[in-house]
Amino acid sequence: MNETIKRVSAKLGAGGLRNRITAKLTAQDKLAVEAEQADKADYKIEVMFHRKRSTLPNKPTAVMVLIWESGKKLHGGGDQKMFWCGYPDCEKPFSSDNFGYAHAVCPHCKREVFLDEQSKATHIRHANRDRLNTDGLKKMPIVIGERLANLTPPNLAALLEKTWHQLDGKADVYLKYSPYEIRYDIKFETTKDIDNLDKVRTTRDPLIYTLKAIRKDIAHGADLRGRFLAMLTA
Ligand SMILES: [Zn+2]
Repeated sequence: MNETIKRVSAKLGAGGLRNRITAKLTAQDKLAVEAEQADKADYKIEVMFHRKRSTLPNKPTAVMVLIWESGKKLHGGGDQKMFWCGYPDCEKPFSSDNFGYAHAVCPHCKREVFLDEQSKATHIRHANRDRLNTDGLKKMPIVIGERLANLTPPNLAALLEKTWHQLDGKADVYLKYSPYEIRYDIKFETTKDIDNLDKVRTTRDPLIYTLKAIRKDIAHGADLRGRFLAMLTA
């Protein structure tokens, strides 16, 4: 439960009856509740490193960046994975609510992208069999489920800043340490082989830079990229 609601609820002795609480809130209480709700992040940016990563400013490390819609699944209890558009001139994040059979339509650039390599191969095979032109299918990219890269801390901070803005400035940032090696291979940048992902997500203690803290820092004039860099090299 939200801290302010809890506090006000205790004051009223209301036992959690939300409508009753709302009715008795003062204007000031209401503003406080609204402010806390406003700082609830709609998204999560998750950065995964191997435990033995380097924090030296100029040394690149393999990282995996994922984005999630917070609390979307299981009545608010789970996060839903988001994807990036596969067209290099778009690369904007979108919800998997846009997924259809074997493909998705990017809500930003309105173009079709495949969901995986296999679907792409199957479509091309069928088109070939029907003697159809496959140029369009071959050019159609695949959605990006996780960004794998070998980045120095400043470059990663820049990627985080860009991603944070792409998510409308409504994201918490999580740093996680995977017990598994993050495999970076330029050929397999869109690999779906993340079987251990759920295990990693739940077993390691993340370092979290909350949206609330981010907003507070920005309000005090902090440079966001610099804040991300400080978090990465801490
Ligand atoms: Zn797009």
